[in-house]
Amino acid sequence: MKVQSLWLADEKDEKIQTLNQSINVDVLIIGGGITGISTLYHLKNSDLKICLVEQNIIGHGVTGRTTGKINYLQGTVYRDLVNKYSLEVAEAYLLSQLDAIKQIKRIIKKENIDCNFEKVDSYVFSSKLKDINKLLEEKAILEKLGIKVIDSQTKKGYAIGVTDTYVFHPLKYLRALKKICIEAGKEIFEKTKIYKIKKDQQLYICYTKDYVIRTKKIIFACHYPFFILPYLMPLKTYTEKSIITASLANYKTKTLLSSSNPCQSIRYYQDDHSYMIYLSNSHNICNSLNENKNYKQTIIEANDLGLKPLYIWKNDDLITVDKMPYIGKIQKHNEQLLIGTGYNTWGMTNGTLAGMILSDIILGRKNEYEKLFNPLRTSCLSDIDKYMINVGSSMKGFIQNKLFKNKSWYDEKVKVVMHKGKSIGIYDDGEKHMVYNKCPHMGCSLIFNEVEKTWDCPCHASRFDIDGKCIKGPSVYDISYKDEF
Ligand SMILES: Cc1cc2nc3c(=O)[nH]c(=O)nc-3n(C[C@H](O)[C@H](O)[C@H](O)COP(=O)(O)OP(=O)(O)OC[C@H]3O[C@@H](n4cnc5c(N)ncnc54)[C@H](O)[C@@H]3O)c2cc1C
Repeated sequence: MKVQSLWLADEKDEKIQTLNQSINVDVLIIGGGITGISTLYHLKNSDLKICLVEQNIIGHGVTGRTTGKINYLQGTVYRDLVNKYSLEVAEAYLLSQLDAIKQIKRIIKKENIDCNFEKVDSYVFSSKLKDINKLLEEKAILEKLGIKVIDSQTKKGYAIGVTDTYVFHPLKYLRALKKICIEAGKEIFEKTKIYKIKKDQQLYICYTKDYVIRTKKIIFACHYPFFILPYLMPLKTYTEKSIITASLANYKTKTLLSSSNPCQSIRYYQDDHSYMIYLSNSHNICNSLNENKNYKQTIIEANDLGLKPLYIWKNDDLITVDKMPYIGKIQKHNEQLLIGTGYNTWGMTNGTLAGMILSDIILGRKNEYEKLFNPLRTSCLSDIDKYMINVGSSMKGFIQNKLFKNKSWYDEKVKVVMHKGKSIGIYDDGEKHMVYNKCPHMGCSLIFNEVEKTWDCPCHASRFDIDGKCIKGPSVYDISYKDEF
């Protein structure tokens, strides 16, 4: 079994360009996932000087590890929005998701993109009475909003479904958009990481390892922002992780999603081979720290469904306090800093929407969804209790991990020791790989993920390879430890 995302498995060696001099631009987009690339795509015909930087390769972040469902039936989100806000807000969110799906369809058709885009029926199911009642409420709301909902009794329990949803290969889509943007004259610098940003009068100076980018505006499309102030993301979100498998399959299925926790989902993918993609073991990253167990459990569940996983991987996404994304300005009177993130595991539609909204803001155009997703929405203030829960759960991960650095489940290759007053993580596979066992983002101790051979932060989801190279933010710094032992 390969410990790798199915989408990254067919990655061909593409020519990449890295930043090789300091430059001045009008707009800098940081991050080349669905948010960054969609935004650049919408700005590709503008006369503004715009560039996108990606610390890795386009699509190798969260988007390259998604399950790639393009769906507006998202658990019981409309019920949650009615309860929190109103039917009008739920309707606006529904329209935004339908618009995003239309937009993806339009782009794929117009640009003739081959990304295994396929129409499938989608269902949300549950066998628990409490959750079935929520599904019935969701159905009633959707019907009130004019959506035709099918309901059925399945082996898995009661399910509600819709017919006009899709699946695709997210990386093929992103790669095609990347090519189109470059052909339109926009610059994309891969393997180019922004480490810090300073304000210099009307400009922002963004520092990479060797050069600087001076820019009038910045779009943070980097998933989890690497700065804490001014936006205080750790307060406004928590991170949810899941394990995903892909197995060969000779039958087709609808897209299925459980509404109960921990969530499970299944979708079908057809290319040269047919695959069943099964997702399970969704948890707040501060919980279920024994990753070995989480991966094993997912494999057992997949086996129970008659699947033999060929690929296995982990992914995580940001969950906001009110289940709606943060897209727009991050400071009230500052038109220069924009963000798109917090998609609550629905980034294919919401990342696409972010592309539409952020490009409209840059071009001074009105966008009907700007207010809905405003990251500074005042209603967030009423969520102080949820902010406290987010902080509390991160603190739990922080404290637990500080106290018990060596986990009972680690095998003998993994150790955490004190050396010269510092906590050092060691992975010994014949060669000693050593890291500082402290996330540079907010100082949390790390957990060794024995399956993917990474050191993972249980507070805000930064990840580092066995030699300490930071492979996923919010940290931007490595934790390599080279001292003699
Ligand atoms: C298990 C799981 C399953 C999911 N399945 C679905 C699904 O079926 N359908 C759906 O709609 N959504 C799904 N999602 C959600 C979706 O995958 C994400 O919301 C979406 O991919 C996020 O896109 P993004 O562009 O914001 O982030 P990313 O794809 O992570 O892009 C951000 C990029 O920024 C780069 N970056 C970060 N910091 C810097 C820096 N300092 N300098 C330069 N570059 C930087 C990163 O390398 C990264 O490539 C799923 C999420 C999870 C966790």
